[in-house]
Amino acid sequence: MRIILLGPPGSGKGTQAQLLVQRYGIVQLSTGEMLRAAVAAGTPVGLKAKEIMASGGLVPDEVVVGIISDRIDQPDARNGFILDGFPRTVPQAAALDELLKQKHLKLDAVIELRVNESALLNRVETRVAQMRERGEEVRVDDTPEVLTKRLASYRTQTEPLIHYYSERRKLSTIDGMMAIDEVTRAIHRQLLALGAVEPKAHSRSAAKAAPAKKAKAAKKSAKKPAKAAKKAAKSAKAAKKAVKKPVRGSKAATKTATKAATKKAAKKAAKATARKAVKKGAKKSAKKVTKKRAKG
Ligand code: AMP
Repeated sequence: MRIILLGPPGSGKGTQAQLLVQRYGIVQLSTGEMLRAAVAAGTPVGLKAKEIMASGGLVPDEVVVGIISDRIDQPDARNGFILDGFPRTVPQAAALDELLKQKHLKLDAVIELRVNESALLNRVETRVAQMRERGEEVRVDDTPEVLTKRLASYRTQTEPLIHYYSERRKLSTIDGMMAIDEVTRAIHRQLLALGAVEPKAHSRSAAKAAPAKKAKAAKKSAKKPAKAAKKAAKSAKAAKKAVKKPVRGSKAATKTATKAATKKAAKKAAKATARKAVKKGAKKSAKKVTKKRAKG
């Protein structure tokens, strides 16, 4: 799976990328991280990028395109990758298209995290305060002044990518103002709807990873069918809410189809969980009655 995460600084791209890495076993390719490593190591690229990054500007396209091209060729990227912070300009996006074509690779999706800009400054201030509390080094470009400049460069240079990928029917927009796990779930649902991830393959690996946990959960839901049904209905409601958010720039037909598919899937899942829970609960009480009868 190959995806791009698009969003302004502070939209949660890095956090979501890390969660997706854990979930799908693919690698995160963050140009910001790579450039920071180059600056720290004092490489020629790092020397070139240092001042530009500190001031909140963009490093020249050819530098980042070169870094990404080399990184995609590494063996660990063969399974798939998430591009975080790249592309950031239309020429970078065009260069990426060309690069993927040459390498015979296909892009599955571009996920845009839509956030309320006025909340971004608060988010970054909170992140900086937390990092300071933990005694971690704070990025030199994580100041309100530099953030304002990074936001301006996002608006003028990166936002046109929304149109670029929307035209190519690659764009999916997710409400990035939701809680972290809700955003992750919305991304997963979108990837499922696009066929970028296999539902069976995923549930198989999840079952493998935590069979005891699953068994425990099943037992619990059998015990409390009403509660499980309520929970399922709640998650259906949440799914409905998530798809209600605006999908700017994408084609109306795609939007409606995605909405309908997600709604339908959520409803179906809620029904199935409730049915299962009720069935299991009934089975258990029948067993109890049989036992009692046998005893008496
Ligand atoms: P990030 O960690 O993605 O916020 O990136 C930090 C800084 O690295 C940016 O403000 C830019 O100066 C530089 N940078 C990262 N990715 C790119 C890119 N694709 N194109 C140009 N500059 C970049």
